[in-house]
Amino acid sequence: MNLILMGLPGAGKGTQAEKIIDQYHIPHISTGDMFRAAISKGTELGLKAKAFMDQGELVPDEITNGIVKERLAQGDTQDGFLLDGFPRTLEQAQALDEILGQLNKKLDAVIDIKVEPDVLIDRLSGRFICKKCGATYHKTFNPPKVEGTCDRCGGHEFYQREDDKPETVKNRLTVNIKNSEPILAYYKEQGLVQEVNGDRDIEEVFVDVKKIIEA
Ligand SMILES: [Zn+2]
Repeated sequence: MNLILMGLPGAGKGTQAEKIIDQYHIPHISTGDMFRAAISKGTELGLKAKAFMDQGELVPDEITNGIVKERLAQGDTQDGFLLDGFPRTLEQAQALDEILGQLNKKLDAVIDIKVEPDVLIDRLSGRFICKKCGATYHKTFNPPKVEGTCDRCGGHEFYQREDDKPETVKNRLTVNIKNSEPILAYYKEQGLVQEVNGDRDIEEVFVDVKKIIEA
């Protein structure tokens, strides 16, 4: 089974990816891991990518696509793969079709783990930290035992990291939604997209993911 896993930050994509690879023993191919592997092996494309990354620049599609092709050509993808974090643009999605065609492979499904943005903002922006001792809490999932008092040091002052602030989270989600829309539309046209309601217990979500994979 050749799969792409999609979902907004906080939708539980990482957790479902782990469960899929555990259950089906297919390689989890994420862009980050692919870049790291290509760089540590010192492949030509890896070195080219490193040069861009060292300068804080985005790696051009041509190089990214080449690295994806090298990875997908490896023997461990014979029974399938789970792509995560790629494609990120419509151009990359089109390039992926070309790559898969050259390798005599095709996609079986694009699994989209869906959670409403408002729920994600709540999940992602709930984290706060004790000013005095650095203990971290989450207003929904891990609140202090006594509201407004740190469990560890008894402190009463807390702060939020810039990344965890609702406005920052909202902006990040908006960018993600805007980027993923054309990719999802592209795959919907091919009848590949399978939506899963991600606003449930991890195991319940996985039951639906399995149904898709085994269909
Ligand atoms: Zn504290």
